[in-house]
Amino acid sequence: MTKRVVVVTGASSGIGAATTKLLVERGAKVVIGARREERLQELATELGNNVIYRKTDVTSVADVKALMNLALDKFGHIDALYNNAGIMPIANLSEDRHAEWKNMLNINVMGVLNGISAALPVMKQQGYGHILATDSLAGHLVMPEYAVYCGTKFAVRAIMEGLQQEEHNNGIRSTIISPGAVNTELYLSESNEAVGKALKESWQQPNTALSPEDVAEAVVYAIFAPTRVNVSEIYLRPAGQL
Ligand code: NDP
Repeated sequence: MTKRVVVVTGASSGIGAATTKLLVERGAKVVIGARREERLQELATELGNNVIYRKTDVTSVADVKALMNLALDKFGHIDALYNNAGIMPIANLSEDRHAEWKNMLNINVMGVLNGISAALPVMKQQGYGHILATDSLAGHLVMPEYAVYCGTKFAVRAIMEGLQQEEHNNGIRSTIISPGAVNTELYLSESNEAVGKALKESWQQPNTALSPEDVAEAVVYAIFAPTRVNVSEIYLRPAGQL
């Protein structure tokens, strides 16, 4: 299998960390970013010299470009960027959580756009590349309390579809990963502790949540598909979720 170089954001836990592990297991070199540097360091130590890391806040285009440059400096090219970082503070709109909405839009939507900004010039110059993003079931349907989160994920899906329309003739593939519930640390982004605790408990019931490793399999499938194949979207959900 070809040695792929993959950049992963939001790799300090959950889906991003599981994907990093699986990519390394399948022979890729992985450059990981997130804000919790100690988590990145632990993962890099566990996985050895096929993983390098840089503290990265995806709301900063300079940070995301520096992460891409680290990959280029160390490995010479980039096959794929996986825009995975995200948060999910949920609440009814009537709670009027302006600061939280803004932060979520910034991370979930601008984070993906910052990734695209950083990746496209590099990939267009190479003549190949693959950009992926973690969307969600919430990018397909709207639920009470999830309106703003769903808004961010609908936006990610629109942006990623636009990317595919604009760049599919330039050797650049794009993939939307749309999971239902996944048992990760995402509940930590709830400002209401009781809501976070309830989410965490609900994800631990049988068949109500995927594991991060389930999603990692989907991501790795898309990345390792032959370059003539563009896996446009993978939509997966726990067997017990409608
Ligand atoms: P986790 O909370 O385990 O992972 C989220 C990751 O995003 C962490 O590594 C976190 O790292 C990173 N992150 C958050 N904000 C930033 C930022 N500003 N800059 C860089 N990294 C950031 O949850 P998941 O693995 O579940 O989440 C990954 C993605 O999956 C998200 O986009 C989420 O919306 C999506 N998703 C999750 C589902 C679920 O049910 N869990 C379902 C569908 C989609 P750090 O805090 O160190 O920066």
